[in-house]
Parts: sequence; structure tokens; C-alpha cells
Amino acid sequence: MARHGGRGWHGKLVGAALGVTLLATGASVWTAQAGTADAPKPKASASATPGNDGKRVETTIAHSSDAGPRGVNITIDDGPDPTWTPQVLDLLKQYGVKATFCMVGTQAQAHPDLVKKVVAAGHRLCDHTVSHNTSMDKASQAYQSQQILDAEAMITKASGGVRPMYYRAPGGAFTPYSRELAASRGMRPLGWNVDSKDFERPGTDAIVATVEKELHNGPTVLFHDAGGNRSQTLEALRRLLPWFKAQGHTFGFPIR
Ligand SMILES: [Zn+2]
Repeated sequence: MARHGGRGWHGKLVGAALGVTLLATGASVWTAQAGTADAPKPKASASATPGNDGKRVETTIAHSSDAGPRGVNITIDDGPDPTWTPQVLDLLKQYGVKATFCMVGTQAQAHPDLVKKVVAAGHRLCDHTVSHNTSMDKASQAYQSQQILDAEAMITKASGGVRPMYYRAPGGAFTPYSRELAASRGMRPLGWNVDSKDFERPGTDAIVATVEKELHNGPTVLFHDAGGNRSQTLEALRRLLPWFKAQGHTFGFPIR
């Protein structure tokens, strides 16, 4: 329990994606979930029905796991990619892990077969905008709207009608406007607690060490399945997925 227990994790968070929920609800959600450790997962029925019915969700940035106090949310960004996504899917299947894929609209449009495979395997979709502009929080509301809504449409079309359940701003560049827009369409703004730094390719050992060292920050861990050679990410996941299990963690989805 120590790794996620008590008050350790919410005091250390930094960065734009990490702010709002913590101040607003993060600690209380974490605490509330701690009391339901042995209860059935409250969101189990939702996870059996991937997609989004379009009903409004919370506008705060989610970090908690629906799998309870030992839950870990694997999130995989920037794909889908024809080289790396199938390998990530194979690995997740091997370990029986469900993850959340934050897809770039143009990537989804280019690889609808992969989007459908992700959904068919029981993973969840997340809108990661059309252009992955990490400065979009400085841009106009019209631009933010286009980036979010066009990507939502691209991903939904590519999936065969399954809508993304989350919205993750590139680089955590959320705004109150973009959070409200996404939430009004049933896409919960999604942050992260642990950046594996896999995107920078620091070496598999470094990626593994970063995740193991920083997991006390909270349950949502960031990886990538596109944007370059992701062999280090794959190798790190191959080591980390059994490690999470050995530590007594379970795998879940971010709360909505
Ligand atoms: Zn990204």
C-alpha cells in the first residue's frame, strides 16, 4: 500500500497537465477510492462498453484509476503507427492488460484498421488532436475547437463509430475552454502522473527506472507508440508490465 498510500503522491506533481484536478478533486478521489479496495470495480460496466455516449463528463483533468487504490492506467500516445502499435497490442494481450490509446487524428485516419484493432481488444480511445500542437493553449478558441472536434470525428470514423472517451492535450496544453469543450462531448480531460520519458529514447533501463521511481506520483503512466523508433518503449513495457503485477498493482482505465 505504501506506494500509493497516504499523501505522498499529490504533493510532488508538476506541469500543466497535472494541476487542476489535484487542487480540485484529486486527493479526495484517491482517498474515496482507497475505501473500496475490495469492492467490485464501480466502472466495470463502462469498460465493457468501449465508447462514449456523448453525455457530459467532468471538466477537471483526470488522473485516478477506476481499478482502485492499486490501479495503474497505461496510456499510449501519438499513434496509431503500423510498425509499433501492433507490437504494443501483442504485448498488452500477452499480459492481459487494457490500456488507453491517445490517438492523433491524422494517424487514425491513415490507419483505421489499427484503430479498430485497438477497440476490438478492449482498449479505450482518447482524442489527442489533429496536429499535435503542444502550443495550442496559446491559440484561438476556434483553432482549439477544430483540433479537438476534427480529431474526434477522424478517430470515430476510423473506429467504425466508437467515440473517444478522453481528451488529452498534446504536451498537456489544456485550457479551460478546451476542457469544457471536450467534457461537453463526453471526453474526459486526461492528464498523467508519470512521464516515462520514452519519447526521448533514453534507453530501456532509464525508462524502466523512471516509471518504477515515479509511480508513487499516481496511477496514470505515459508511453508512446509512434513518433519514431519505439523499440525501447516495447522493451520497457515488456519489463514493466510484469513488474506492476509483482508489486500488486492491477490495470484499469482513467476515471471519467
Ligand atoms: Zn502526444
